[in-house]
Amino acid sequence: MESLNIQSYKRFILLDCDGVIWRGNHPIDGAISTLNNLEQKKFHLGFITNNSSLSRRGFRSKFFKLGFNPVNYYISNSAYGAAYYIKQKKVSKVFMIGEQGLREELEIQSIYVTEKYEKGLEGVVIGWDRGLTWQKLADAMQVIVMDGGIFVATNPDNSFPLEDRLVPGAGAGIAALSNACNKEPDMMIGKPNRFLIDLALNEMGCMNRTEAILVGDRLSTDILAGINAGIETVQVRTGILDTYLKNKVSPTHEIESVSDIFSIMKVKKDK
Ligand SMILES: [Mg+2]
Repeated sequence: MESLNIQSYKRFILLDCDGVIWRGNHPIDGAISTLNNLEQKKFHLGFITNNSSLSRRGFRSKFFKLGFNPVNYYISNSAYGAAYYIKQKKVSKVFMIGEQGLREELEIQSIYVTEKYEKGLEGVVIGWDRGLTWQKLADAMQVIVMDGGIFVATNPDNSFPLEDRLVPGAGAGIAALSNACNKEPDMMIGKPNRFLIDLALNEMGCMNRTEAILVGDRLSTDILAGINAGIETVQVRTGILDTYLKNKVSPTHEIESVSDIFSIMKVKKDK
C-alpha cells in the first residue's frame, strides 16, 4: 500500500467559486467529482468568494442545488467577512448598501442594519447592490462624511460575469461612494486583501501555511490574495483571465481546470 506523507502535500485547499467550480448556474465540467474525490482523500475544502449577494447559508444551498455535496465544506464570502470585521470593531449600527445575504450576515452578528439614514449610525457597509440608487449613496455619504462613520466595503470587483455579458460589480458602486466622499474605504474585505484567507485558515484549523493552497481564476483578486497571505496559488483557465497582469502576478501553478488539480498533487485521482 502506498504510504502518504501528510506533510508532503497540501491538506487545506481554498477555492474561489465563480469561474473555478461553477460559471453562473452551471458546474464546471468535472468539478463535482474532483471535489468529492479530494474530500474522500481527507483534504479540507474551503470556498471563498468575493460575492456578497448571498449569505453563507445561501451559498450552501446553491452548492446543493448545483449537485455539489457541501455538508463538510467551509464556506465564506465577503458578506460574512464584512459582518465579522464590523463586529470585531465593536460597531453595532450600520447603514447598508447591499442585498439580502449581506443583511443576513450582519444580523447574525447582532448588528443593527438600516437602509434609510438615521442619526446614531456608526458606519456604512457597502456590497453588491442591484438596486443601488442616488438616494442610497447620499445617505451613506452622510454617515461617512458628516457623522464620521467607518466605511467598510465588501469587494473591489469592478465587473461581474453573467452568462452572456459583464455587468457592474460591487466595486463600481464602491468607487461611486468613495469618489463622492473623497475617501478610500477604511477596509476592503474581499480578495486581493488577505483578510478572508486568514479568517478561513484560522476557522478551518490550519496551523501551518505550507499546508494550504489557493485555487482561483483571477490574478487581480484570487492569486494576489494567496500571495498576500503567503500561500501557494493555482490559476485555472475556466474563468476570467486578467491577462494584462500576466507579467506582474505569478501563480505558483497553472492548470486548465480544477479537475486537473491532481496533476500538481502527490496523490492520485480515483478513476
Ligand atoms: Mg472567480
